[in-house]
Amino acid sequence: MKIWLNGGLHDLDSARVSVLDHGLTVGDGVFETVKATAGRPFALTRHLDRLARSARGLGLPEPDQAEVRRACAAVLDANPMELGRLRITYTGGLSPLGSDRGDQGPTLVVALGETKRRPDSTAVITVPWTRNERGALTGLKTTSYAENVVALARATEQGATEALFANTVGQLCEGTGSNVFVVLDGEIHTPPVASGCLAGITRALAVEWTGAHETDLPLDVLDRADEVFLTSTLRDVQAVHRVDDRELPGAPGPVTAKAMRVFAERAADDLDP
Ligand code: PLP
Repeated sequence: MKIWLNGGLHDLDSARVSVLDHGLTVGDGVFETVKATAGRPFALTRHLDRLARSARGLGLPEPDQAEVRRACAAVLDANPMELGRLRITYTGGLSPLGSDRGDQGPTLVVALGETKRRPDSTAVITVPWTRNERGALTGLKTTSYAENVVALARATEQGATEALFANTVGQLCEGTGSNVFVVLDGEIHTPPVASGCLAGITRALAVEWTGAHETDLPLDVLDRADEVFLTSTLRDVQAVHRVDDRELPGAPGPVTAKAMRVFAERAADDLDP
């Protein structure tokens, strides 16, 4: 496995980052996961724009977009695979203890892992913890993912693959690594970005391609929604067949199935929508 680290390709086993890298010591890094089919990245421009937005939000120097594109191309070229997930990580970089961040420039790592197509439907749980819709990190895709790790572990314990959060005012927000949609009376709704969710790239495309409404939704909408689905880079559009103890038999329902079809067709037509 070849990865990109700060300007060039390296063998994974010999690539080294300092133990004083800010990404490790204080976690002020940002990242993107990009799907790549037969070596071709999906929606790369949107991912690079979000990486830059997240970096700005943390006060990191702007990533060099041309270098990140070069790095992705080089890693995809060096590691051929049918369905891959590029992981772009960008941190404040090495800083001698006690001095300011970024003395020796940021750290850029691009790695590639194999991935599988997800099943058409899955189970989710809700968790009692909240997303903060007004925090300093709200909407940024930072490497500080520990809260998501804890929530996802609870989901796994309960036979689910995703945990859904409400925000601090009790509105449905998002999953640990996905956005959530519900179908009510045949119409598709998803929480607005102001709910505190990440501006998911799959979410934005699904809204554009299905005409879904961005609506404030109480968490208990999950008790009455006709259909529920998730969106994310690695799930695409994925139906939900159980929320906590509530079964949603027949998932994907008709509206979700259509959204899945529309997404698959449009995404195949345009790899950088
Ligand atoms: N919400 C969170 C917290 C995420 O980490 C992710 C993806 O990583 C998403 C939503 C979905 O975003 P995208 O569709 O861009 O993958």
